[in-house]
Amino acid sequence: MSAEKPYRLPTTATPDRYELRLTPDLTTWTFTGEERVAVRVHEPVREIILNAAELELHAVSFKTADGKVLPGRVSLDSENERAILSFAEAVPAGGGELEIHFTGILNDKLHGFYRSTYKGADGQDKPLASTQFESTDARRAFPCWDEPAFKAVFQVILVVDQKLTAISNARVVSETALPATHKKAVVFADTMKMSTYLVAFIVGEFEATEPVMVGKAPLRVCAVPGKKHLTPFAIAIGKASLEHFSAYYGIPYPGDKLDLIAIPDFASGAMENLGAITFRETALLVDAARATRTELERVADVVSHENAHMWFGDLVTMKWWNGLWLNEAFATFMEMLAVDAWKPEWRRWDSFTVSRAAAMQVDGLKSTRPIEFPVERPEEAAGMFDILTYEKGASVLRMLEQYLGDEAFRDGIRLYLRRHAYANAETTDLWDALEESTKEPVRALMDTWIFQAGYPLITVAKEPRGLRLTQQMFRYLQDGSDPERKWHVPIFLRVGTKTGVIEKTILLADREQTVELGDPVDWAVVNAGGHGFHRVRYGADLFDSLKRGLQVRLSAVERFSLVNDTWASTLAGLTSLTDYLSLIDLLSDENDVNVWTTVIGSGHHLERILDDPQCATLEKRLRALLGPAVARFGWTPRQGESDLESQLRGDLINALGTLGDDKACQEKARELFALYEKSPDAVERNLIPALIAIVAHTGTAADYDKFYARFKNAQTPQEETRFLFALANFRLPELIDRTLDLTINGEVRTQNSPYLMRGILLNKPARVKAWAFMKAHWEEMLRQYPDNAIPRMCEGIVGLATAELEADVRDFFARHPVKQGTKQMEQHLERLHVAVICRERWRDLLRS
Ligand SMILES: [Zn+2]
Repeated sequence: MSAEKPYRLPTTATPDRYELRLTPDLTTWTFTGEERVAVRVHEPVREIILNAAELELHAVSFKTADGKVLPGRVSLDSENERAILSFAEAVPAGGGELEIHFTGILNDKLHGFYRSTYKGADGQDKPLASTQFESTDARRAFPCWDEPAFKAVFQVILVVDQKLTAISNARVVSETALPATHKKAVVFADTMKMSTYLVAFIVGEFEATEPVMVGKAPLRVCAVPGKKHLTPFAIAIGKASLEHFSAYYGIPYPGDKLDLIAIPDFASGAMENLGAITFRETALLVDAARATRTELERVADVVSHENAHMWFGDLVTMKWWNGLWLNEAFATFMEMLAVDAWKPEWRRWDSFTVSRAAAMQVDGLKSTRPIEFPVERPEEAAGMFDILTYEKGASVLRMLEQYLGDEAFRDGIRLYLRRHAYANAETTDLWDALEESTKEPVRALMDTWIFQAGYPLITVAKEPRGLRLTQQMFRYLQDGSDPERKWHVPIFLRVGTKTGVIEKTILLADREQTVELGDPVDWAVVNAGGHGFHRVRYGADLFDSLKRGLQVRLSAVERFSLVNDTWASTLAGLTSLTDYLSLIDLLSDENDVNVWTTVIGSGHHLERILDDPQCATLEKRLRALLGPAVARFGWTPRQGESDLESQLRGDLINALGTLGDDKACQEKARELFALYEKSPDAVERNLIPALIAIVAHTGTAADYDKFYARFKNAQTPQEETRFLFALANFRLPELIDRTLDLTINGEVRTQNSPYLMRGILLNKPARVKAWAFMKAHWEEMLRQYPDNAIPRMCEGIVGLATAELEADVRDFFARHPVKQGTKQMEQHLERLHVAVICRERWRDLLRS
């Protein structure tokens, strides 16, 4: 096996328990380490092979069960990130202990064992070290069996400066001063049996909150000094979600303590290391009194998501990276459940509709992929952390849960977790558990969603006493591929007839099915509740009857689906742009924030595609739509309004001032921004992002300087990102140049620069400059930015929506392939192509 797949480890020797002692040096950015691994040798071997990368291994020996010490020789296979330990004498079968001494570097790429810096209260740069091991970077910190199926117990010992705090997965057992070196040895308890990618160690000047007990485990939030006042919100949702999951899963939290730790430099959003979850600061630290609802929701989401992983992912882990969706789709689904239970007024499942729609956007491309996808080489796992794994995965789980019933579904999940605790599982194990507990053919249904790419478009037509439903694959580009592809589609129907409203759930497994309802149909909502992962295309008469009853026959989520599906079919050329615009014209009295999100999103999309005079016509139409809505909501909060209403007011004003380019709105926004600068609490907090966006949209050099200073001196992580990312939206050429420069001159953390660059690419007046800049500095960006951010940054190319730019983009990426995101890159390019086709198609429309 090792000859055929040199990137996979042999199973002749496997680890049971690691004892790991690490001494990081935060001045030279290096570390030394030694490990003793209790190993089981399954047959006599002359070689033990494990993973190592960017490490030097100095001394290796193997102590057999009867105490004999066999010295080993090391050869490194850097291409496959392996260390081959050879022994002159065969290592006998049975137990033994492998001892390795090694050294490594604290890198600046935000993976493995890495360095981070922040400004202390004295204005000086302070160092810290943290880890990020998923998917395959534990091997940069210590030699190990770095595949998820090699679960083991870990005991970590960190030797650090006496004034520093050391955190790892388990509680501290002892701290011993080492006077000769001014250091201390911090010994942590044994972890449960778990995968290497979940190991963590963090060293720096951290402050921790007072522990709050959740069951038997203390929960704390840790951050660099001076940020304790930004922790109460995270503690509240942290405790609530852990309690929610303990009850839902029917299993107590599996660790012995839990620290939620904010790291100033962090490549992704957060990482579910057992007992020591790491976050980027914006995803954990927040001023609950001043942050917007969406900023708070983000913290609640990410904390819940990571906490859900303590069971789904940490306790039960996928066997190999092709099963990543088992971890991520579930954590995303559970995150919604917990946040929805904690703050029902946020209607979290309603706003999840927006995420579902974003997944459907990617999944409607030819270049999509199935949720579960073969992963051969471990580095291919990096490409799996995408919207299809997370959001499509969570959507199809929600669909299944609604189809089976929430209690039946939960019972199946409990069975699955109990059965595979402290071990690994595959997708098929989940279906076994759900089938056993529900007696429903879950596997046949779900295989069509997990192993097939794409999703169906359900066409609905009236029959004399019922409806006819037909499924076919939805694609933005009609290429006639795979016309036979079918799904088992749970369809939730609500139908109005002369005798009343009928609710019915059916499973559409064939190409076509007639649903008998006993009465002629007056109107019908297919995908009632919005849980189905499909689009709907109504016959003209059914569509008209829904348009006539938008606010009475459809719930907010259903209106969202109607608008979103119509927009998608407009992009696909199945509906005319005129028909789409006449549908959204009916929405001026709409009060749902998510419906407006899809309307405003389509406006931004059109603005990027169209040029004047169509763009000017579009702006005028948007002003006619948004103006009355803004007038209806006013600029100041009404007594007792909900957070969602406040958010919607902000979104509407934002869109009117930027997309609609409304002068009066811009003036008013500038006035209020001046007030906000003087007294931050004088302006309703959910309005602030709109004010910032509008000032940037119309911004001068003086505004730019102000924003830049606010970014540099921000008081909260949210304020920092608000002003930083707003710099991407200035439109004057010299200001665009300044922002471009910021992406590589070291002033912006590399965790943020790629997203700043994406923002500039999506800013229409900046896009040509931005694209030229990106091409010119491509190698530099690859060197500086974390690997996982490159394909995400490149999403900005979807804004380069002219035929000439598209040709140049294709040419560039043909010569500079992005290896860590081949699929995502194909998807960005196809989205760009769809936009360019629409540009051609709509060339003669909208001429005022
Ligand atoms: Zn996750």
